[in-house]
Amino acid sequence: MSVSEKHNITCRCGKKFEWDIWSSVNVTKDPDLKDLLFDGLLNVVVCPFCGDLFYYENFILYHDEKKHYLFYVYNHDCAESKTDLVKKAKYDCEFVNQKADKKIFVGYKIEVFFGLDELVEFLRREEEL
Ligand SMILES: [Zn+2]
Repeated sequence: MSVSEKHNITCRCGKKFEWDIWSSVNVTKDPDLKDLLFDGLLNVVVCPFCGDLFYYENFILYHDEKKHYLFYVYNHDCAESKTDLVKKAKYDCEFVNQKADKKIFVGYKIEVFFGLDELVEFLRREEEL
């Protein structure tokens, strides 16, 4: 399931507004979101006051049930190292697998990216192969 939450966003013009920001994207259930991502429009917000269009960076969990991908996409300015984050992500999945009656994330590729551009680059490269 894909999940979005309302965020309070402050525009460069100084005005504040609310926008639904995706935090979890399941591209198997919601292929439209994959299109948005590839078009560079996922979590792009439009200020209702000045019309400015900008990207609102937010942590996103990317889930592809068909390809068995579970990707953790952190913000560019995330201070933690990739090695630590990958370790944490794998631990999380193990935890979920142990809790659930049926193991969910078996044979999954678990990866960490910094920024949606890094993720899109990876996915594009992969589709070309
Ligand atoms: Zn504005």
